[in-house]
Order: sequence, then C-alpha cells, then structure tokens
Amino acid sequence: MQNIKKLQDSLLLWYEKHGRKDLIWRNFKRDGSQAYEVYVSEIMLQQTQVSRVLKDFYLPFLARFPNLKELSIASESDVLKQWQGLGYYSRVRNMQKTAIICMQKHGGNLPSSVYELQQLPGIGAYTAGAVACFGFGKSASFADSNIRRVLCRLFGLPHPKNREIENLAKMFLNTKSSFDHNQALLDLGALICTSNPSCILCPFFPTQCAAIKTNPRDFDQRKKIIYKELNIALCIVSLPNGEIGFIRESGKLYAGLYNLPKLDSLGFIKAQYLGSFKHSYTKYKILANVYTSKLDYKNSQKLASLGIVFFPSDNLPPIANLSKKALKLTAL
Ligand code: SF4
Repeated sequence: MQNIKKLQDSLLLWYEKHGRKDLIWRNFKRDGSQAYEVYVSEIMLQQTQVSRVLKDFYLPFLARFPNLKELSIASESDVLKQWQGLGYYSRVRNMQKTAIICMQKHGGNLPSSVYELQQLPGIGAYTAGAVACFGFGKSASFADSNIRRVLCRLFGLPHPKNREIENLAKMFLNTKSSFDHNQALLDLGALICTSNPSCILCPFFPTQCAAIKTNPRDFDQRKKIIYKELNIALCIVSLPNGEIGFIRESGKLYAGLYNLPKLDSLGFIKAQYLGSFKHSYTKYKILANVYTSKLDYKNSQKLASLGIVFFPSDNLPPIANLSKKALKLTAL
C-alpha cells in the first residue's frame, strides 16, 4: 500500500495549482447557511456537465427557487418548466419532495448529517456525503463515478464492490482538508484520470499510481449501455390562431411534461413532412420524423377528445426535450 500521507499531499498540491476553485458552488459558506445552493448544484451535476449547468440552468433555478420554502410551495408545472432542458426530471421531482419534508421536519433546512440526508428522496450516499462536506463543512467521504475511477486506478482495484470503494474513500480521506481533498478527487477524475487518462499530467504519475504498472484502461468502471433504437413520427398540429397541440404525459419518465402527439395517434388528419432529427434519452436512440398539420377549429375538437390540449406558442407548458427539438425545425 502506498504512503497515504504522501498521496494526500500530492493531491492537494495539484488541486492548489490546477483545481477548478472558481466554480460558484465551491465558494459558498460551509456553515450550512448555503447548503441548499450546494444541494441544487449536486443534483444538477448528477447527469449534466458542469459547463451546461453553469451556462443555462444553475443561477436561473436559484433565482426562481431561492430556498427550500419557495421550492416546496411551487406548482409541479412551474418546477418542471424551470428544469426544462436538463432532462431526468425525477431529479427535480425528488428535490421538491425533499423540500416539503425539510419544511415539515427540519425547520426549513437541510439536515447536516449524512444519515439524515440519505433518508430524503433522491439523495444517495454520494449526494449525502457531498452536501455534508461541501455545504456543512463536515469531514465526509464519498465516491461518484469520477472518484471511483481515480481510487480504483490509484490503489489498483480493477473490480471492487461498492463497499470496498466506500472503505477506500474513507481510508484515503484527508480529514484535515476534507473539502479540498474531495473537490480535488472530483477534478482529477473529470479532467485528468478520465476513461482516456492523461497520466503525464497527474500528480500520482509515474511512481504513486498502481494502475501505471499495468494499463489504466483495465480499471475502467463504465458499464456498456445497450441502446434500443426507436423510430417515431411526431406531429406539430396548429390552429389558425397559431396555438399548438400537446399531450400531457403520464408515464414514469415524462410524468407531468407535455409532448407533441404521435402522428399515428391522430388518425384522420392530413400532415406534411417537415424534417427529422436524432435524439438520445436514457437507453433509447430515437430517430424522430416530424410532420406539420394545420387544423380548423371544428377538427380541433376531435383532437380534444384524444387528450390534445392547445397552447399559444409564446406560453407553452413544460415540454420534453424531444418535442423542443421538433419545434426547432419549424424555425429552419
Ligand atoms: S497516473 Fe493515470 S491512471 Fe493513475 S491516477 Fe493518475 S491519471 Fe489516473
């Protein structure tokens, strides 16, 4: 086993010179007073890149829902609309459930212990540890996919169980500088020790990393995703006043969001081909063909019986990315 103190020092030295210390959520108070802001960043970053979160979503979300109270009393439609474009909507639904529980049970604040955080909807071991450490200044260890990859390679564990990784993260934690230590591991995994690592730039290269003796790529933890291919036809149905028809989704993935109707569900209408685009969603690779149809008011009533609801184009409900992309074709 390597000398842990030396590894911790190498990591902190690297973070001091190369870490992303200017990220907004790394500069909040660590006394719990800005734990909500940290929590929002952690949830957004679960499936979305830092640059996208920063460019389009983080500050607008905080402006609309500046605290747990505002989030807890918002309408579902308002919350989903604010999340529009980020995808994986269960994240924000769980955030609202968490906000409601915190208002009822924790005096309008997030709890500070890892255990209590993990009892809240959508907060797993990683997020609980990150909020406790980054929001409350606690000495907590945790591992997301980036930290996991670094630790596996650094300590030479090709296929560890979750429990082994948790123990390793705990053993490696620098309890005197937990905040910087954990942020450094996140940055190293995101910037250097990636699936195609730039070892020459790594603070553990060449003598401290166990994986260097074999091949770092043998330690890749990613599971291969098997995608399903889908072909669908969507229809942009519009009325003479410009209103567009949508269907409210009730399935688990899109619940509460609106999508353009599928052409084959509309039966009687005549439609013209507009264009097509590719879209990926969870395990689906979708080829979407888009059609348009202009209806008169009489025929629009038939669509109402199919559950189609019409909205003005300048006041649309929260719509799924798939339909957003389809609507963009009308602007071409
Ligand atoms: S030396 Fe390479 S494989 Fe090892 S931790 Fe650094 S980047 Fe990862």
